[in-house]
Amino acid sequence: LRKRGGPALRVSLLQRSERLMNRQLDTTAAKLLETTLQERGMTFYTGVTLTGLQDDGQGQVCAVTLANGRQLPADHVIMAAGVCPNSALGQQAGLACERAILVDGHLTTSDPHIFALGECCQFEQHTYGLVEPIWRQVEVLAAVLCGETPAHYAEAPTATKLKVSGVQLYAFGPTEAEPHHDTLHYLDPENGDYCRLLMHQGRLEGAILYGDTRHGPWYFEQALAATDLTACRHLLLFGAADAQAVLASHASSSFSHREAA
Ligand SMILES: Cc1cc2nc3c(=O)[nH]c(=O)nc-3n(C[C@H](O)[C@H](O)[C@H](O)COP(=O)(O)OP(=O)(O)OC[C@H]3O[C@@H](n4cnc5c(N)ncnc54)[C@H](O)[C@@H]3O)c2cc1C
Repeated sequence: LRKRGGPALRVSLLQRSERLMNRQLDTTAAKLLETTLQERGMTFYTGVTLTGLQDDGQGQVCAVTLANGRQLPADHVIMAAGVCPNSALGQQAGLACERAILVDGHLTTSDPHIFALGECCQFEQHTYGLVEPIWRQVEVLAAVLCGETPAHYAEAPTATKLKVSGVQLYAFGPTEAEPHHDTLHYLDPENGDYCRLLMHQGRLEGAILYGDTRHGPWYFEQALAATDLTACRHLLLFGAADAQAVLASHASSSFSHREAA
């Protein structure tokens, strides 16, 4: 909107949480993102809840009201309210539903002859709004319907890549460090570069990269494979190449030690 509307179109973003992308970013990365977007002319209100819309008496919106009573002028309002599963059909059919149609690890509903997957289903406490986990559900259900007994569907970590043009961002795992985490970070605010890695017992559990995100997929692979990165911990912030070289030489030297023994 900001790009297409030119300077005359003032765009404000209201967000309920205290920072942008609170499920993917820590405070530092969220602030970098906010600053970048502010520089592009956007205004942010975080930690606010929208409670009402005012109209000008002729059916045209003229302001929004926040939970703290504050009013902000607006002549267009766009709500990005997320995905809300429609489980009405399942409910009418008498299937067990909570926020969506409940399924087990084989995508079977409370009626063993009826299956559900995708945005209309709920597995444990999870509902869905991205294709990646749904593709994995498809694999499991296809195998079940072919008479096989596949491994149960299970939640798996996913990585986020931000699609805002010119903003490079890659994140996975917990946003905040917990007491058991060994945290490595690098911040260059001048260049808008930030990297924060969360390690536990030599394994990578989470990463947030802002600016230079080239090594994001490599970090994600290491986390999924639970690779022991202790030997290259001091090089991890510099990316894949040096760290991999150290890991390879560490592996070959432990192999030759074993051979010698
Ligand atoms: C604009 C947009 C952009 C998105 N971008 C991304 C993205 O970049 N990355 C990402 O991972 N996800 C994205 N998503 C989300 C992703 O598309 C959905 O999570 C995914 O498609 C859901 O799959 P599904 O099979 O549950 O439902 P759907 O893909 O919606 O399929 C449901 C099908 O059921 C059919 N249907 C509905 N009711 C009936 C009926 N009564 N009888 C017969 N057929 C019926 C529908 O016609 C439809 O074909 C986006 C979604 C939207 C809307």
